[in-house]
Amino acid sequence: SLARCPPKEHQILVCVRKRPLNRRELAMYEPDVISVPNRELLVVHEPRKQVNLTKFLEHHNFRFDYTFDEHCTNSQVYERTARPLVRHIFEGGMATCFAYGQTGSGKTHTMGGVFTGKQQNCRDGIYAMAAGDVFACLQLPNYACLGLSVSCSFFELYGSRVYDLLMPGKPQLRVLEDGQQKVQVVGLTEQAVANTNDVLKLLELGNSVRTSGHTSANSKSSRSHAVFQIVLRIGEKKRLRGKFSLIDLAGNERGADNCCADRQTRLEGAEINKSLLALKECIRALGRQSPHLPFRGSKLTQVLRDSFIGGKKVRTCMIAMISPGLHSVEHTLNTLRYADRVKEL
Ligand code: ADP
Ligand code: MG
Repeated sequence: SLARCPPKEHQILVCVRKRPLNRRELAMYEPDVISVPNRELLVVHEPRKQVNLTKFLEHHNFRFDYTFDEHCTNSQVYERTARPLVRHIFEGGMATCFAYGQTGSGKTHTMGGVFTGKQQNCRDGIYAMAAGDVFACLQLPNYACLGLSVSCSFFELYGSRVYDLLMPGKPQLRVLEDGQQKVQVVGLTEQAVANTNDVLKLLELGNSVRTSGHTSANSKSSRSHAVFQIVLRIGEKKRLRGKFSLIDLAGNERGADNCCADRQTRLEGAEINKSLLALKECIRALGRQSPHLPFRGSKLTQVLRDSFIGGKKVRTCMIAMISPGLHSVEHTLNTLRYADRVKEL
């Protein structure tokens, strides 16, 4: 069915991916409230009660550039979302691909790779697939002659702090803005890579730092944004040719972590909320071709600033992840409304 769906070349692409019910949800007989009638539509069937307590289903219809159902694989998702952006960075453009959604909806599975037990297979994730295509593109005759070099960075934004995932144990990095509003993460590792295997090693390192560096793995990683960047440089002087930023965002429900939490958690929640709002506004401004990008609204948009400026040379893709179960329906509707706003100009 995907085969009949041609790739789209929009400047801003907004897609949704539904994951299957997991083992726990199946064991609880949790109903699946999402249907995906075709590759562009998605319907949420929300159980409601009337004033007289009779039950009914409210159907919410959404349309996106692509909708992926629970049978789609990471490579099918990759094919329609991040893959078309690889060429773009070779043409001198900036590209970003965001995974957005509530904790447990499949962001890390999609971007970082499929888990078998506790083991994450980086090879099956969009990060690695994009890197693989970068090396494939590098062999093409029109690009092979340019003298391009490839390098990677991998960092995490935790509250408003930045940590280098390729340099475990290093203290937080500073973000500086110079007179020309150029933003720089001081001391961020930009590791030269020669092939996909080099990238896989970096991904393994970064993923393990992301989950084990903190005490309780998933609860902490769900409160941070992870940013993986593939950087193309040209010539002896290593001038920037293009950059692909792939981002596993913090769980969007974390912004609402304001009751029953300690001060630190509340502050983090507020920063996550701020960053996701600022991100939406930046993408919308990009879609309107507005010269004023509200990138200063958060640390996340600030460090991604160079990926948003540059007019037509900027492309972005949002993959909104949703959990299919009844208990997630409110978060799912929030996610879909956010994605809808990003799409709408
Ligand atoms: P998030 O990063 O959004 O918090 P994860 O990627 O960690 O969510 O996914 C939560 C759980 O659901 C993991 O156990 C993961 O293996 C599983 N999962 C997510 N998406 C899929 C999918 N498309 N197919 C099968 N399992 C999935
Ligand atoms: Mg995750």
